[in-house]
Amino acid sequence: MSDALVLVINSGSSSLKFALMDAQTGDAVISGAGECFGRDDARMSWKVDGEKTEKTLSAGSNHHQEAMDIIVGLIESNQLSDKLQAVGHRVVHGGETFSQATLIDDAVLAQIDALKALAPLHNPAHVVGIKAARKAFPSLPQVAVFDTAFHQTMPEKAYHYAISRQLYNDYGIRRYGFHGTSHYYVSREAAKWLNQAPEQTNVITVHLGNGASLCAVKDGQSVDTSMGFTPLAGLMMGTRCGDIDPSILEFLSKKGLSTDEIHHELLDKAGLLGVSELTNDCRGLVEAAEQGHKGAQLALEMFAYRVAKYIASYMVPLSRLDAIVFTGGIGENSLPVREMILKELAIFGYQADADANAAARFGAAGQITTQASPLALVIPTNEELVIAQQAMAMA
Ligand code: ADP
Repeated sequence: MSDALVLVINSGSSSLKFALMDAQTGDAVISGAGECFGRDDARMSWKVDGEKTEKTLSAGSNHHQEAMDIIVGLIESNQLSDKLQAVGHRVVHGGETFSQATLIDDAVLAQIDALKALAPLHNPAHVVGIKAARKAFPSLPQVAVFDTAFHQTMPEKAYHYAISRQLYNDYGIRRYGFHGTSHYYVSREAAKWLNQAPEQTNVITVHLGNGASLCAVKDGQSVDTSMGFTPLAGLMMGTRCGDIDPSILEFLSKKGLSTDEIHHELLDKAGLLGVSELTNDCRGLVEAAEQGHKGAQLALEMFAYRVAKYIASYMVPLSRLDAIVFTGGIGENSLPVREMILKELAIFGYQADADANAAARFGAAGQITTQASPLALVIPTNEELVIAQQAMAMA
């Protein structure tokens, strides 16, 4: 183990995930998660050297602070305090204010808080986590790593919506893009795989998890991405609708649905779940489709078709494409979905290699196309490692 440990924290409104990471090797020395914060059944679990411990949190207490106290205790009892160099926080929204990882002081914390206008569920929860961590580790540098930051290089023609400038000026309505840390990481790993400098690498990164997005990466920089003002836009996802005709909102409103009900329809009841009427879990859908479930078949077909259409459209800004890069739970593991996507791209000559496709899963990286085909790779993402490294660079 090196002397470069970073505590990576992802604080949600009712949860907190953490990992004490070696920023050089990427190994997590201790990792864990708390859930159901704010409720009587709040609890926390963690792993040290593969051994799992679970604890119920006190009813009525500040669970974020209690979780942080447990983390401090774990670091001390494992005699790791001297090695801990920094705390890295995942922050969903950095708006136009943050285009890179940033050392947190009072002013930065106030700016992250102010961005709750754009991310009302996420940023306030991050602020709670950051405050608890600053209290627990007052002498350590605390660094915010933003999901939106990588996409701040998009040109105006990619990030503006075709709506009045007034709405952009007054409310900041534009495409921000998310999953930036993942797109950044896998594009860098792809450059290594290609033996090219990142600044000379053009790839389309395809992050397919419960949330899903693509990014066109030109010369190592994001030039377009499929999520937008919020993570609801772009691809069809586990439970999210992705791109739809905005007039549907007005139509549903006139049918008597409230704004909250419409949002719930599009965010939680749509996507793979809504179309299949079965599940948002890709594995379950593949199994059901094989057994002839029509809803599951249609959901997977739509999913793959839409990913392929986005990939084709991102050839426009790239002019030269070195590789398509699949990542995320589905991208890293689902052979049939990857194969379906490549089939939809047959016009460009893409062809999956059955053996190579079968080999690249469960954390294994590699090429999944035949030698005659343009290149598609699988690269497992590692957002925690990026957060640890970027925090370490500021320590
Ligand atoms: P999140 O966006 O919540 O981080 P993940 O990246 O963990 O999501 O991806 C979750 C998705 O990955 C689910 O649809 C799940 O079915 C799928 N997935 C995970 N493992 C496999 C697997 N072995 N085969 C196929 N799909 C998988």
